[in-house]
Amino acid sequence: MTTYTAAPNDSATIIIVEDDPDAARFVQRALDRPGFEVVSFSRPDEALEALKRLPCSLLLSDVRLPGMTGLDLLQRARRYDPQLPVVLMTAFATLEDATFALRNGADDYLLKPLNAKVLIDTVSKVLAKCRAARDRVLAIGAHPDDVEIGVGATLIDHVDRGDHVTILTLSRGESGGAVSDRIEEAERAAELLGAALILGDLPDTRIWTNGPTVDLIEDVVRGLAPMIVYTHSLHDVHQDHRAVHQASLVACRAMPQVFSYQSPSATVDFAPRRFVPVDATIDRKLAAIAAYRSQTTKCSYLADDLLRATARYWGRFVESNHAEPLEIVRQQVLTRSNSESTQRTIDLREVDGYVLSSS
Ligand SMILES: [Zn+2]
Repeated sequence: MTTYTAAPNDSATIIIVEDDPDAARFVQRALDRPGFEVVSFSRPDEALEALKRLPCSLLLSDVRLPGMTGLDLLQRARRYDPQLPVVLMTAFATLEDATFALRNGADDYLLKPLNAKVLIDTVSKVLAKCRAARDRVLAIGAHPDDVEIGVGATLIDHVDRGDHVTILTLSRGESGGAVSDRIEEAERAAELLGAALILGDLPDTRIWTNGPTVDLIEDVVRGLAPMIVYTHSLHDVHQDHRAVHQASLVACRAMPQVFSYQSPSATVDFAPRRFVPVDATIDRKLAAIAAYRSQTTKCSYLADDLLRATARYWGRFVESNHAEPLEIVRQQVLTRSNSESTQRTIDLREVDGYVLSSS
C-alpha cells in the first residue's frame, strides 16, 4: 500500500454575525489573536453568501438579527456544512433561551454583555471539541481518478476546514494504462487535494461486491474511524462502481455519515439530495484531475469544460455557481453540545431540493 500524508491546516476562520456595531467590534478585538482569522458581517444573508466561499471553522452569531434569527441562520448554514460548529450569542439571558439554542443544534452559547475571557474560552473549547469530532473523512473509489471526479472539490473544502482526508482507491487501474504511471498520478492528485492516499490492489474491472472488497474497506475504516464517508453511487453503469458502493455500505454500516457521489458513468437514476458549493475549490479540483496525464488525453469525461459544466449545472440547487451533488445514504449528527459521545439520528426533510436537519 502507498500512503501520502499532507500537512495539517491549523488556523481557524471564525465568521461573526452581529448587527450591533459595538458588540461586533468587541468580539473582533477579543478574537484578534494568533490562530484565529475573523470575518465579520452585520447581515445574516451576507454571512450565508460568505459561507459558500470561505472555509469557515466556526460561526459565532447573535440570536436577534435583521431578516432572520440566529437559529434560522444556523439551519441554513448547516445546509452547506452539516458539521459547522455554531456558537450563539444572546442578550436575553434566560436558561430557556440557552437550552433552546442547544436543543436546536448550537454547540454552545454566550450571554451578553460579553466577557472577553469567557468568549475566547468558549470559542477555543468548541473549536477543540469539534476538531476532534470532525477531522476524519474517507473517500472511496474503485479506480484512480474516481474520487477526484466525484468529490475532489468537496475534499479540498474539508482539508481547508482542517479535516483529515483519506482517499481509498481499491484498484490500481491497470485496464486504463501502466500501473506505475497510474500510481504516480494518483499520488500527485492526492497531494494536490491535500489528502492521504491508500491504494488497494483489487483487480480492475473485476472488483467483487463482497469478500476482499469489504475486508479491505473494513480494515481502513477500523483504522481511521471516519465521521464522513463518500463512495460510489449504485446508480452507475460501471460494474466496479456498483460493487464498491455495495461493499462500502456493508463495511461502513456503523459510520454516521455516508454519501454517494456522481461518476461520469452515473445513470439518470442518480438522485442527489445534498449539494456542496464548490466555487472556491473547483479550480483546484481540475488541477488535481490534470495530474492524471495518462488519462486526460484519451478520456473525454475528464475534459475541463465537461467537469466545470457538470458542477455549474448542479450549482442551481444550492444558489451557487458550481456544486458537487451527493446522494444521502446516511446522515446522523453528533449532539456535541450535550455530550461528546451522544449521537442521535436526525430526521431529514426535503425542502426545494435541499435537505434540512430538524430535531
Ligand atoms: Zn472508475
